[in-house]
Amino acid sequence: MSRAPRILLLLLLLTSSLAHADLKLYVFDCGQLSFPDVTAFGLSNEETSVRELFVPCYLIKHDDHLMVWDAGLPLADVGQSGGNSRYQTSFLQQLAAMNISPADIDFIAFSHMHYDHVGAANAFNQSTLLIQEAEATAAFEHPEDNPVFRPELYSQLRDSNRISLSGDYDVFGDGSVKIISTPGHTPGHQSLYLELSRFGPLILSGDLYHFEASRELRRTPVFNTSIEETLMSMDKVESLLELTGATFWIEHSKELAETLDLAPSYLE
Ligand SMILES: [Zn+2]
Repeated sequence: MSRAPRILLLLLLLTSSLAHADLKLYVFDCGQLSFPDVTAFGLSNEETSVRELFVPCYLIKHDDHLMVWDAGLPLADVGQSGGNSRYQTSFLQQLAAMNISPADIDFIAFSHMHYDHVGAANAFNQSTLLIQEAEATAAFEHPEDNPVFRPELYSQLRDSNRISLSGDYDVFGDGSVKIISTPGHTPGHQSLYLELSRFGPLILSGDLYHFEASRELRRTPVFNTSIEETLMSMDKVESLLELTGATFWIEHSKELAETLDLAPSYLE
């Protein structure tokens, strides 16, 4: 091959590898919650027949880097089969089965710091924490103001390496994993945009919505920190969905979870 085509080929390879990091998404079963009454979510009991919520954890592999998004129910709930929460195999055990230990995780991020999203958080105290400044203030400085925070579940992250966010954040700098600031459920709630090469773009909701009916009817839970911010965040994500054509996953949807191949299977 003469020199010019060789350089062209090299450039092509280089730019295509820059544009397409190897990105994989693993979904884990990190428990289930049941609610006999859904009125706290701003819905009447007639507006949805859903009473069971799935609680996911996610692992994102970006080339050689690992990131965890949401860490499930409290590990103390593992083995529990009665009451309103159920959790069979701990997230840490499920990771261990894939030969991954918490120390291997480069980045830890939560949609928000409510107890059903930070259950295994303390195990990831060696990872860099990606958190909105408003969420860090609420969760670390004023946890008593929000009864859904259980500070003992994430207390060991207080002194973690931290990247403080105040808005959207491109985690790996190539646009493939972006934290989308969606405040309202909590002061620094966030959603996650992923650009998977085969599956296509995907947005993980966090708790922007808990039920399909919340999305259809634009309802906000009574325990949200700001209705106004929540509605603005809903508008922001709905526009982003329109713009990107992304698939949208309501994280707590059990109906959705039942259609997914859980880890060690993955989407790419
Ligand atoms: Zn939740």
